Amino acid sequence: MHSQENNNSKESVNFIQSIIDRDRENNKYGGRVHLRFPPEPNGYLHIGHAKSICLNFGLAEKNNGLCNLRFDDTNPSKEDIEYIDSIIRDVRWLGFNWEDRLYYASDYFDKMYEDAVSLIKQGKAYVCDLNPEEIREYRGTFTKPGKESPYRNRSIEENLSLFKQMKDGIFEDGSRVLRAKIDMSSANLNMRDPVLYRIVKKSHHRTGDKWCIYPMYDYAHPLEDYYERITHSVCTLEFEDHRPLYDWLLSNLYSSELPQQIEFARLDLTNTIMSKRKLRILVEEGYVSGWDDPRLPTISGLRRRGYTPQAIRNFCNRIGVAKTNSVVDIRFLEHCIREDLNKNAQRVMAVLNPLKLIIDNYPDNLTEELEGENNPEDPSAGSRKVPFSKTLYIEKEDFHEDPPKKYFRLAPGREVRLKNAYIVKSQGFVRDEKTGEISEVHCTYDPESKSGGAGAKRKVKGTLHWVSAGHALKAEVRLYDYLLLSEDKKQEEEAKANFIDRINPNSLEVLTECLVEPSLANAVKGNKYQFMRKGYFCVDLESKTGNLVFNRIVSLRDSWEKIMKINQGKGK
Ligand code: ATP
Ligand code: MG
Repeated sequence: MHSQENNNSKESVNFIQSIIDRDRENNKYGGRVHLRFPPEPNGYLHIGHAKSICLNFGLAEKNNGLCNLRFDDTNPSKEDIEYIDSIIRDVRWLGFNWEDRLYYASDYFDKMYEDAVSLIKQGKAYVCDLNPEEIREYRGTFTKPGKESPYRNRSIEENLSLFKQMKDGIFEDGSRVLRAKIDMSSANLNMRDPVLYRIVKKSHHRTGDKWCIYPMYDYAHPLEDYYERITHSVCTLEFEDHRPLYDWLLSNLYSSELPQQIEFARLDLTNTIMSKRKLRILVEEGYVSGWDDPRLPTISGLRRRGYTPQAIRNFCNRIGVAKTNSVVDIRFLEHCIREDLNKNAQRVMAVLNPLKLIIDNYPDNLTEELEGENNPEDPSAGSRKVPFSKTLYIEKEDFHEDPPKKYFRLAPGREVRLKNAYIVKSQGFVRDEKTGEISEVHCTYDPESKSGGAGAKRKVKGTLHWVSAGHALKAEVRLYDYLLLSEDKKQEEEAKANFIDRINPNSLEVLTECLVEPSLANAVKGNKYQFMRKGYFCVDLESKTGNLVFNRIVSLRDSWEKIMKINQGKGK
């Protein structure tokens, strides 16, 4: 359904790299390559930002260049120090380093003011007294040309004086703006005398009350790039129509080493939403537990869920850089974390829905310490001891009194191997009188069949995971599902438009009666494990010794690989 067919291959050269190559060949910028990642601190970063971060820092690294981190903090009303701290943390966590190049747009307010004065002096900017609605009305539309403001032909002296008075706080919010004098009949609406400065009588988190006029994004951004000697200013496609303004401003103010804006398609993912504004609604209206809710596509949510920086970087590099917007299947992101954890996560046994299993012919008070391999993909991960005894727990779903076809687990009279232990044969079960549910399974074991021993060769069809009743630890396990319900392209569009209506009511299921093997007693927050046969899990922030909490990162089943196989079968 989504444009993903080619993305399973490793990285390919992207078109931005080709532009950089060409510029270096022509010795543009003296061969320098300098990029930036410029978040506005008005929310937490999400995986779309991760794509931009990987792209900018990645290109800098690849080309022996530099990449700055810059806070685009030109709007005092929506921004917050909490967001700045979270952004710094997230970019660092993803593994990127801006060294001493952390900048704030607000550090340049003086210079930006001087540049605005310079435009006024050139007759290229004017103070306009129309109110915001009138400005909108005068601007016209795609089909209707704009109309010139009656204030457009003020003298330079008058403009200089009015602009200074705007800065000095003489006028009310919204009563005047500074506008570029470009072309009200331009086919590009961004060129119809765009607003450069507006009056906002609000304290700024860095400059305090020094300013009551603030630059607009379209004015500030090219200047920030120029001041930092950026060469390639990479941004998302919605700014394509703003590029003529970017170039107009810079070429009217400066003459050499002008940065160039290059647009690429923003990342979007199925079954979730990406805009900060929408994410903020989910957080502030309590649909999720916070910006780091493991269901969110925020970097902090993914981190808490158990995603690794490596998996996110792999994902971002492998989806490629395109010129047209598309929606990436979220299952490809899941594929990337599975791939990473399959190599790196320790295997342990955990029973999510316990059913008691008693081995009638096993000695009453014996505990054997059996050997469990930590990771079959990585022999250097070693092994650990797993206690085994007469009373165990297995998953409820691993016993069936009347097994369907192809059910290779435990059933009356059937044999299975208990992982790392023995083959057991079911001899009967006990039913809870009140509920009618099966409450206990009775088995006998074959003492000769011990894993690793001489009798280990005997084969049976199923292998089950288990924990020892007297040794297992209680744990809470949080199972996550997709944030939004959608199964095809049409539903996806609907879900994006009406995301509140499409929130998956089963996006979180909490299991409180889980049992995990005792090696997890002191599991460290953030550690990741494979619960054998169940999926990959991460120790949650709220986990404590004696009160373990795990988040499911992903199940083991890789639907992405299946999709790829089907596609290959079709000759793709
Ligand atoms: P949102 O639309 O989610 O609120 P934004 O574009 O307003 O995001 P900024 O803080 O302005 O967020 O973005 C910082 C940088 O990250 C910009 O260069 C922007 O183009 C890039 N970026 C934001 N969202 C995405 C995305 N989904 N995919 C790729 N890059 C993105
Ligand atoms: Mg923005």
